[in-house]
Amino acid sequence: DPAPIDRTTTTTCGYCGVGCSLRVHVRDEHIAAITPVHGAPVNRGHACVKGRFAHAFTRSRDRLTTPLIRTAGRDSPLRPATWDEALGVVAARLSAIRDRYGGEAIGLISSARATNEENYLAQKFARTVLRTNNLDNCSRLCHSPSAAGLTASFGLAGGTNPFDDLDRADCILVAGANPTEAHPVVGARIKQRVLDGARLIVIDPRRTDLVGFADVHVQAHPGSNVAVFNGIACALIDAGHVDEGFVRHRASGFHELTDVLRDYPLDRAAHLAGVDPATLAEAARLYGSARRPAIVYGLGITEHTHGTDGVRTLANLAILTGAVGTTDGCGVLTLRGQNNVQGASDMGALPDLLPGYQSVTDPHIRDRFSRAWGVEVPDRPGLRILDMFDAATTGRLHALYVIGEDIAQTDPDTRRVQAALAACDLVVCHDLFLSRTAEHADVVLPAVSFLEKDGTFVNFERRVQRVHPALPPPGQAKTDFEILHLLAAAMDADLGCPTPADAMAECASLTPTFAGITHARLDRDGPLYWPCRAPDQPGEARLYLDRFATPDGRAALAARPYLPPGEQPDRRFPFVLVTGRRLAHYNSGSMTRRTPNLDLVPREALDVHPDDAARLGLADGDVVEVASRRARVTFPVNVTDSVAPGQVFTTFAFPDQPTNALTSDCADTTTGCPEYKVTAVALRPG
Ligand code: SF4
Repeated sequence: DPAPIDRTTTTTCGYCGVGCSLRVHVRDEHIAAITPVHGAPVNRGHACVKGRFAHAFTRSRDRLTTPLIRTAGRDSPLRPATWDEALGVVAARLSAIRDRYGGEAIGLISSARATNEENYLAQKFARTVLRTNNLDNCSRLCHSPSAAGLTASFGLAGGTNPFDDLDRADCILVAGANPTEAHPVVGARIKQRVLDGARLIVIDPRRTDLVGFADVHVQAHPGSNVAVFNGIACALIDAGHVDEGFVRHRASGFHELTDVLRDYPLDRAAHLAGVDPATLAEAARLYGSARRPAIVYGLGITEHTHGTDGVRTLANLAILTGAVGTTDGCGVLTLRGQNNVQGASDMGALPDLLPGYQSVTDPHIRDRFSRAWGVEVPDRPGLRILDMFDAATTGRLHALYVIGEDIAQTDPDTRRVQAALAACDLVVCHDLFLSRTAEHADVVLPAVSFLEKDGTFVNFERRVQRVHPALPPPGQAKTDFEILHLLAAAMDADLGCPTPADAMAECASLTPTFAGITHARLDRDGPLYWPCRAPDQPGEARLYLDRFATPDGRAALAARPYLPPGEQPDRRFPFVLVTGRRLAHYNSGSMTRRTPNLDLVPREALDVHPDDAARLGLADGDVVEVASRRARVTFPVNVTDSVAPGQVFTTFAFPDQPTNALTSDCADTTTGCPEYKVTAVALRPG
């Protein structure tokens, strides 16, 4: 469009953890176009169909522009209210619940869509005003096993290397990730690297787009990751691919690992995973013989009953081969799903950890925060998200405060979520739209999107990047930052740090890994990696060059047995449902469905293998009922060999096709991350 642009704002994409730098061009207070920043370090002038084109939601007619409240119970309709009235209701009812039952009767779910500063303020609000550690964020549902697993293996809760190191890798192992659709700029870089000569191993139950570029595709059963990685570890040792000097001087746990690996010779591991032993052997050979092998993984590793074990046994491969903590690149990169899922956890929106992953049970750390905040920080770890739901249905949790997450659509086992929402005396949410969760809420507060707020995000590389508002908020909508400040004031509290820059400064003063990060510095110098321990330090893009951050300074090999997933297919439910993402839509789809991306994927379908489709008499577009042990949902069929026989695939981006009514109620035994990747289902032609 040749009409002149009024202004252009440079900011960070809010759609996925890649964190592309974008230029947002505004005319007449509407976004006219978004273009990638040429020369930006992360995306180098590229962006995907979400970041570039999915912005029309900002001016969607159904944006929430005023607070909404119910005045006569849950069955009464939501009606518009002033901010004073809505915040007065929330403040009075939260205060009454806190004063009567204690802060532990309230749960707060913060958001990966919120900025770091908003997450910092949310955890401070929970701990100092609500007086509870019942605080969590959606990383619980995706990458909590990464935080736990990477911390245990290496010492810090983030990926080990910068994205640019992929350009130096001569072999890339992509496990449980489909970056072409979920992290497209990474997917494109991996393909380019392969075209330039790197070898590619894909470990995934599905025949993803990257498989077309791969030397080896290990099409393992969903839930068999630990068997696969143990089998590869065994093969690395047997073939002499272990870096003995590295293991001797920089790692621990080798003998315990070899004891467990006796049970996972290649043939047995391949059998457990349902793959040809020769394929697994070739994957081990390629990874083990590479000079600079890199690992990239995603939710296919974490969203399992044994997700943390999956992360740890995958990390074993890098440790055994000395392919982590070196100047030559390599490492273990974790593809975060939502844009700020790393930052939400970094900022301490977690039930057991304060900002910078500092333990809430450590009296010295707690004392430092208590003195700074002028309020005693609660000492007991709080409830995780799924535990909050159970606490609500058993009467221990009376209020749920949800920031920017549609838990009734995106969390597993919807019936359990709905029961929890129904059981609470008070449900409050911040959102852009009347989400499925908002439909259950007593008070809905209109919030703003990443295109309308100021602060920072952390991308999947641990890179802290500035977010600038390109548009003013619509109507009376406010940032989560403003809402939390106003609510605290209505509860006679002062959260301090009046601006996002102040919040980052306060976080830096209390958090060694963020100590050198300020808005002024980010504005002057550009993005900074954490850890950044002082104002004159550049931040550590590549971790562990001298020592690992574990207590003994060594990378910890993990001896873990393979255990089956929480649900197994049987005669009644013979298929395995795997959930994931498609290119055009993001998470719940609440933003992308309100853009022209809806034309690309107007509704969800169920991917079914041609052999299964033929056996059931199904063709493209036919309707099939999918039944799990919890619910039944119908989908049109998409016949494709991207799924293996016996498996089906879909997303949860469409509320009218409530996939999470079906999904498993099993969760990672270490972190409580749901097993979205394995649900036993039956198919019945409609
Ligand atoms: Fe980049 Fe991800 Fe945004 Fe696409 S969705 S433009 S890959 S940050």
